[in-house]
Amino acid sequence: MISELINTNQLQKADPVFGQLSFDNHEQVVFCNDKDTGLKAIIGIHNTVLGPALGGTRMWQYANEWEALNDVLRLSRGMTFKSAITGLNLGGGKAVIIGDAKTQKTPELMKRFGEFVHSLSGKYITAEDVGMETSDMDLVREVTPYVTGISEEKGGAGNPSPITAYGVFMGMKAAAKFKFGTDVLEGKKVIVQGIGHVGETLVEHLVQEGAKVIIDDINQERLEAISKKYGATIYKGENIYAEEVDIYAPCALGATINDATIQTLKAKVVAGAANNQLADEIKHGRLLQEKGIVYAPDFLINAGGIINVYAELENYDKTEIMRKTENIYNTTIEILNNADVNNITTHQAALNIAQSRIEARKKENQQ
Ligand code: NAD
Repeated sequence: MISELINTNQLQKADPVFGQLSFDNHEQVVFCNDKDTGLKAIIGIHNTVLGPALGGTRMWQYANEWEALNDVLRLSRGMTFKSAITGLNLGGGKAVIIGDAKTQKTPELMKRFGEFVHSLSGKYITAEDVGMETSDMDLVREVTPYVTGISEEKGGAGNPSPITAYGVFMGMKAAAKFKFGTDVLEGKKVIVQGIGHVGETLVEHLVQEGAKVIIDDINQERLEAISKKYGATIYKGENIYAEEVDIYAPCALGATINDATIQTLKAKVVAGAANNQLADEIKHGRLLQEKGIVYAPDFLINAGGIINVYAELENYDKTEIMRKTENIYNTTIEILNNADVNNITTHQAALNIAQSRIEARKKENQQ
């Protein structure tokens, strides 16, 4: 979470929007307020060179508005590179709704949010993220066509999380192949942090393959349910980063690789679903490289969800969704080799490819 990254004092000292640390030449930032429903949301549109800015909506109880703003700035930027590296004709955007999804989310609030999305005439297309369900997107769909991740009954591609988990599993296997010389995860000790929509399906794939799965979550009830369902071990220690494991899979929130955790991190591979896993992409990317920890870039391996929702816009079927998602394996191998050969971080290697695709399109558009 952004709070682990920058303290609020630092955020407040900077200029309110364009001066924020996470501001990266975003094209548009839209603040949405509605007194009647209590909606307070921010839509971040980072870049639309490759296409409309598509990215999910997160509902979260932020400590303050600075955190919400910086989260949407970071997340929307990440979406630009995710779609670019995955070869989709989409730009990067994201939205955050400030509030507790469990107690403050109402159908009226979701529809009002949908009206704000609609007011952007398709420049931003939403979907679900943390705190959102397919049923919420169905509500948004009642007021705007600029929404994906709607239920199959309503003509959508359904919940993207299982596909995201499958893509993460593919990226993890590729990282294992690079690090251990085999992509078979049987017997590998994997810790999955966050066993929500994506984490659970990842646990399922891992257990099926015979990995030794350890799970961690702040939700005790869920931990017990998932442990029982899949036979995974609940983590009981004090510091999961210091646990001797083969693979650490961050599947909760971002910035868990930071100044504090990187010192004790013992995993040999980091591969998970969370967005923005590195608190500081350059510094922590480099430190992982120096420690010989293979990092499968988050925006590359968690692209299954966007591949799934993109199908709703392009009308491709489940077979094509799975083919594109499986291809995350090949792209990950390519990126890891590229980083190795050029002695750059894996994050940088992935970013270079994404940025060059955007630059090439920009030139084409200018001709
Ligand atoms: P989710 O809300 O369903 O699950 C998140 C889980 O993390 C919850 O069980 C929560 O209790 C747990 N959690 C929160 N803080 C924690 C902490 N400090 N320690 C341990 N567990 C904690 O979300 P999701 O849809 O499964 O997404 C997980 C991550 O993957 C998010 O970062 C999301 O942005 C990213 N992601 C999701 C998708 C998708 O298709 N859902 C796609 C791309 C990226």
